[in-house]
Amino acid sequence: MAWASTGSSNAELIDNMLRNGILGEVVGEVVDGSQSEAEAASDRVARAMKKVDRANYVRDKRDAYQDSPQSIGHGATISAPHMHAYAASHLLPYLPPGGRVLDVGSGSGYLSAVFYHLINDPHGEIQSLSSPHTKSKPLVTGIEHIAQLTDWSVSNLKRDGLGEALETGQIDMVTGDGRLGYPPNAPYNAIHVGAAAPELPQELVDQLAPGGRMFIPIGTHLQNIYHINKDETGKVTQTEVMGVRYVPLTDRKLQEEH
Ligand code: SAH
Repeated sequence: MAWASTGSSNAELIDNMLRNGILGEVVGEVVDGSQSEAEAASDRVARAMKKVDRANYVRDKRDAYQDSPQSIGHGATISAPHMHAYAASHLLPYLPPGGRVLDVGSGSGYLSAVFYHLINDPHGEIQSLSSPHTKSKPLVTGIEHIAQLTDWSVSNLKRDGLGEALETGQIDMVTGDGRLGYPPNAPYNAIHVGAAAPELPQELVDQLAPGGRMFIPIGTHLQNIYHINKDETGKVTQTEVMGVRYVPLTDRKLQEEH
């Protein structure tokens, strides 16, 4: 089902995911509410994804609206659109207006752009959440350990209309080891990890705000997505969600030698 959503345009790709139930299905799992709330939530994800043209984040535009991962060089891939949809849906209740998110292994910058639009959606509030937002900190931080990919993601975001958000510091794309998170902009209401960690990095848990959620693939050969939730008292719980295949969250040298 997931692979059947390929479209001939960005809007068609996202409409196909909606029609195939991908957005509704995952949102239904994580939004604890009525059918109409789940529908409103999947519409919110679709609205944000429609603002991000995947053609601006791939190396070969002919592949832009294929529902599959594509190589972006340096041993990295842009994830398949349905995986981006899952990630955005699973984190949706943790992305209130003005909330803050960390995108680890930001690669092409695609998902950082989706997160930015979700946080800026004026119709977006699903549940009230205490947000640690202060004006001086960025809404979206992307961290990527290959400098050429960080630079490329910045040009992709600019091409996609987010130059002003970069200039005003609402989006901050940095080069560094994402296993250590990015303390200057912490804490984060939501943390997305776009590469598979051999084990849960404690630094990322520490940088998650109370009431927040991390979406992280963990494992080497066999990998699973986990939700790491931190409650208001700081108690951390882990839930295994689904089996996946991601590139590893690793050392830069190891990845480039690969
Ligand atoms: N969400 C991105 C996924 C890119 S693939 C997209 O869809 O474009 C995973 C990314 O994680 C790669 O770009 C890889 O370079 C990066 N990565 C792997 N290990 C990392 C680390 N330790 N720190 C930061 N980035 C890392």
